[in-house]
Amino acid sequence: MSLTTPTTRAFTEPAPSALLLLGRGVDLASERGVECVGDLPAASDPDLVERARVARAALGDRAFVLGHHYQRDEVIRFADVTGDSFKLAREAAARPEAEFVVFCGVHFMAESADILTSDTQQVVLPDLAAGCSMADMAAIDQVEDAWDVLVDAGVAEHTVPVTYMNSTAAIKAFTGRHGGTVCTSSNAHVALRWAFDQVGGLDGTGKVLFMPDQHLGRNTAVRLLGLPLEACVVFDPRKPGGGLTAQQLRDARMILWRGHCSVHGRFSPRNVADIRAAVPDVTVLVHPECQHEVVNAADMVGSTEYIINALDKAEPGSSWAIGTELNLVRRLANAHPDKQIHYLDSTVCFCSTMNRIDLPHLVWAMESLVAGRVVNRIVVDADDAHWARVALDQMLALPGY
Ligand code: SF4
Repeated sequence: MSLTTPTTRAFTEPAPSALLLLGRGVDLASERGVECVGDLPAASDPDLVERARVARAALGDRAFVLGHHYQRDEVIRFADVTGDSFKLAREAAARPEAEFVVFCGVHFMAESADILTSDTQQVVLPDLAAGCSMADMAAIDQVEDAWDVLVDAGVAEHTVPVTYMNSTAAIKAFTGRHGGTVCTSSNAHVALRWAFDQVGGLDGTGKVLFMPDQHLGRNTAVRLLGLPLEACVVFDPRKPGGGLTAQQLRDARMILWRGHCSVHGRFSPRNVADIRAAVPDVTVLVHPECQHEVVNAADMVGSTEYIINALDKAEPGSSWAIGTELNLVRRLANAHPDKQIHYLDSTVCFCSTMNRIDLPHLVWAMESLVAGRVVNRIVVDADDAHWARVALDQMLALPGY
């Protein structure tokens, strides 16, 4: 069909291959749904910033707006607090007077906020298409099947699941049901030590099933716990038996889920070599979601909070190459004009799902709340919420919390 061929198809029923405009129409086969009830403001609306200000002021203390570090500048300026996903969920829980928690982040973060906040608080995600490709790489039926494989191999009773915050509520609930814990990129080493202690300690033969980010699991186990690289195996949910033999599972200490972050996973050792060649005395600082080879080639490794603190403390005039999401790196470069801050790879783009939350969606969500209409509410079912809370509480009980 020619691009100019007229069509009588209703706008809300696009052809399977049609490009859906943001906020218009739904394609449940490919996305969580992008339909917005009412009118989504145009991105070109010159009054958008003013509309956001007015809606925010009208909501007052009834709303609390959370902004993840990777959000767009146009959105983060309206956040009451910024941070990583766990910090944001705790901040929301600490404000029970806020009836609405507007989460500018991605779906799993809003789920965690719903789990940690009270029943009287309603969590809103301005665009339901703001998912996370990493979290989506571990579906609950795949993980249940994987556990059956571990049972058949005779290793499940010696295995503790540990899931990264960046996972769905269903995976966190699975972890809680099986005596495991949630972790963040800041405390993954503490969580892993605790998990190994439940099955005979680091020097024993017990195992951890780490989901969904293989890179964070591997980097933590090898670099911070001193396990050999050969002790890590990758469970591929798309292959029978995870692509592993029962003997490989029995020999392993870290069973890594085959998942990764589409942003951090793209940095390469070549990026590190190139920036070192281009910028003398550069310090390369990367997130532990990067590949093991990249982390090994870097000078420093740490979570987003670690990266922010490291640049706060850096000497004026020092040069840095940062391997994390671009929105955050750009803001850090603007905040530290006295330091040379480079993005580790100039060809890597923003996190596409984080970027789904734009000013039109934020305005639409807040104006809807002002009008008495709660849109895009995120609700975790009660049973999953209970068991996910068990796993989150286990994390809070780890040393250092
Ligand atoms: S940066 Fe990576 S882990 Fe974070 S939301 Fe985007 S895809 Fe998910």
